[in-house]
Amino acid sequence: MKIVDAANVSLNEWQVAGFLAAARKLSTREIYEVVQAAEPLGDPVAYQFPAIVRRRYDRLPTFPEGYLVMGDAPCSFNPIFAQGMTVAALEAEALAQGRSRLTPRFFARAYDAAWQTAVGAELAFAEIESPRPPLIRFLNWYITRLHRAARCDAQVSIAFLKVINMLVPPPSILHPRILWRVF
Ligand SMILES: Cc1cc2nc3c(=O)[nH]c(=O)nc-3n(C[C@H](O)[C@H](O)[C@H](O)COP(=O)(O)OP(=O)(O)OC[C@H]3O[C@@H](n4cnc5c(N)ncnc54)[C@H](O)[C@@H]3O)c2cc1C
Repeated sequence: MKIVDAANVSLNEWQVAGFLAAARKLSTREIYEVVQAAEPLGDPVAYQFPAIVRRRYDRLPTFPEGYLVMGDAPCSFNPIFAQGMTVAALEAEALAQGRSRLTPRFFARAYDAAWQTAVGAELAFAEIESPRPPLIRFLNWYITRLHRAARCDAQVSIAFLKVINMLVPPPSILHPRILWRVF
């Protein structure tokens, strides 16, 4: 299957080999099977801003009247988790609905769940140097099992997708109904 334009192929062989080796390690083979037959469009490009950052404007003792910080400016996520536009859209919706008290604290709430999910997911990577509180260690241990269960259990899969699509709060994947199915 050819899924990209092969006009400008300049990936090094070792880059391709490394990418394919990583894809092969994924828990399902479908992605590997697609990419191993695909041809690259161009060179890989690193993100310009390789960090997740949260600026706590909501904790400032005072905040300029009529000034609003939203989108990636107060909080930017790792693009692989696809959260930034969703969070910005939630904020825009709140703004359009003219909800009262559009304070920084109000907007901080839009970030809390996404930020907790993002931090937990980042800390699942052993390469990230950071202390891992027991709760994070437990959650990442649990989520690894949840991912395995989700491969063959539609209810677990749907519960996880609802969380990552921000339709329900993250603790919902710890509901006893889901816990039971995961274990
Ligand atoms: C590769 C990638 C994939 C992504 N995929 C997803 C996804 O699947 N789902 C999702 O929800 N989110 C995704 N995101 C995140 C999403 O793109 C951002 O959260 C979103 O674009 C943030 O919008 P924003 O308006 O806050 O910032 P931006 O979109 O970054 O807009 C800021 C604008 O300000 C301009 N600007 C900067 N400095 C100045 C200046 N001094 N003067 C004037 N203009 C300036 C910039 O040029 C830019 O146009 C992805 C991000 C990346 C990088």
